[in-house]
Amino acid sequence: MNKKNKNLKLNWSEKYFFIDKKGNLNINIKNKKIKIKKIITKKIIKNLPVKFCIPEIIKDKINKINKKFNYYINKYNYKGKYFLIYPIKVNQKSYIIQTILKNKIYKTGLEAGSKTELITILINSNKKITILCNGYKDKTYMYIAYLATKIGHKIYIIIEKIKELKLLWKYIKKKNFFIGIRIKLNNLEINPKKNKSQFKFGLTSNEILKIIKILIKKKKTNNLKILHCHLESQIKNIKNIIIYIKEIINLYIDIQKIFKIKIKIIDIGGGLAVSYSNNKNINYDIDKYTKNIIKIIKNTCNKNKIKHPHLITESGRYITAHHEFIITNIYNIEKNEKNKNKKIFIKKKNKIINNIWKIWINIKKKKYISNFFIIKNLIKIKNEFKIGKYNIIEKVWIENIYKKILEKIYKYKIFKKNNILKNINLYISKKIHLNFSIFQSIPDSWGINQIFPILPIIKFKKKKNQKINILDITCDSDGKINNYINIKNYISNSLEIPYLKNYKSTFIGIFMTGAYQNILSNKHNLFGNLQTYLIKIKKNKKYKKKIINLNESIINVAKKTNINNNQIKKFLNKYKKNKKTIKKIKKIFLSKTYLK
Ligand code: PLP
Repeated sequence: MNKKNKNLKLNWSEKYFFIDKKGNLNINIKNKKIKIKKIITKKIIKNLPVKFCIPEIIKDKINKINKKFNYYINKYNYKGKYFLIYPIKVNQKSYIIQTILKNKIYKTGLEAGSKTELITILINSNKKITILCNGYKDKTYMYIAYLATKIGHKIYIIIEKIKELKLLWKYIKKKNFFIGIRIKLNNLEINPKKNKSQFKFGLTSNEILKIIKILIKKKKTNNLKILHCHLESQIKNIKNIIIYIKEIINLYIDIQKIFKIKIKIIDIGGGLAVSYSNNKNINYDIDKYTKNIIKIIKNTCNKNKIKHPHLITESGRYITAHHEFIITNIYNIEKNEKNKNKKIFIKKKNKIINNIWKIWINIKKKKYISNFFIIKNLIKIKNEFKIGKYNIIEKVWIENIYKKILEKIYKYKIFKKNNILKNINLYISKKIHLNFSIFQSIPDSWGINQIFPILPIIKFKKKKNQKINILDITCDSDGKINNYINIKNYISNSLEIPYLKNYKSTFIGIFMTGAYQNILSNKHNLFGNLQTYLIKIKKNKKYKKKIINLNESIINVAKKTNINNNQIKKFLNKYKKNKKTIKKIKKIFLSKTYLK
């Protein structure tokens, strides 16, 4: 804990979580502080792993981004308005859409990236709202969009491909039916890593010209309302944002000047990054983001004597990432085997064993021993070990002493090369199996090496810590976490946590899982969805928990593999002589997929 016995800030948490003076992890929202250990009741423990979602954090985020844009709009005397559009692809859960639409302070629109997302939006929205239709479109998508206008929604079809124009002529005269065009940014970039969306989305300058000419010919330029772009999610460098804002605003000005088309709205898409680890890897915050955007657009428009456009951002990750976290338990923890390091088979007079023993005795006493000698003998014994030169009893001794030597090498930083120490760190860290599936709960950790903050729900103390590595319970060697953000805000291939007195009653929190993880998650090894609780912040009472998703049962998940009810019946019939067994099997069918 902190020296001055103060609350401990968690850099990634944007103050929504903190560690209090006593070392407890707390949620902090609407001036209410909730100890996480208090929400983990006995009932919840039975259902671990579980998910918690705090809609109040989503509201807070919507208010924050609106306030920031409005602040700079006023400060710089910007004439356009700001409007947030939430792209539901980031998290389509109904309670999120409801929370966003019910927010009375700021109106927010929604973005669909497919026809199913559009239908989801329509089912969720009881109010008349603004909807942006992105993604590739067919006749049905266009028709659903038209249906949306019939119940009062304002629809903007964002054209991604020229051929989509043909699909919309039918509807273009209808009320509340508008169009936008998505531009391909940075089109001369030849490195796909620097411009991921260039390979897939948007229109080239040539295609934009063609579309404009068609609209002029058909006298439909008044329907063109939005110029849209989206570079990528989680842009870490503000420079890249500045570059693309300049590109889109200049195109906006060109279209006004050359073709006299008053588009009126610029939609700069997503990209606003959140810090999952330490702030250093992202060189801006919400303040710098909003300030730069308003300033650049205003100055460029003023220079060209063009009216300031209204501004849309499609910030999804920023809105949802913090509001969800997962709590689970430890299934297994690697114990340090007790093995007194006596040289048990000296009788063999094995030279390498003698050398290893010599290394251990010296290193333990911090006596000088040459690095060359250490490395040579560690490599030799490793090779002999691999080719089966030792029996099982000898192997136990070697494994043990090898690890202990590496622990000392790491502790005394005997080798200067950082990558050697990094590998040793990984080898000596304790392996902890968490009762969860990486593929189900944090697929981005596996897919794109995204770091998620992980903290045990215990009292944090300044004292002795241990290094751990987290493995999941899937039967897959990729089911492990490779990178961690530590409480002291450094990134490492192991996580530093206090020694655990009783691991069975220690719970682990995985934070910032609210963006993308939900829908990207998969059922690898047939582990199912988690029981999910909403935490509703109440005025008088502190908070209330409400279940919104039950644990997915074994049989439900098994059914995803196309097995049908007949097959299940046949299987149960095999036990027909014993009704008790059938009853037991049916109970198993309905139980959770995770470990008890
Ligand atoms: N808008 C579009 C068109 C997108 O494709 C995405 C996601 O990639 C977003 C918005 C959301 O971006 P972010 O995750 O940066 O909020």
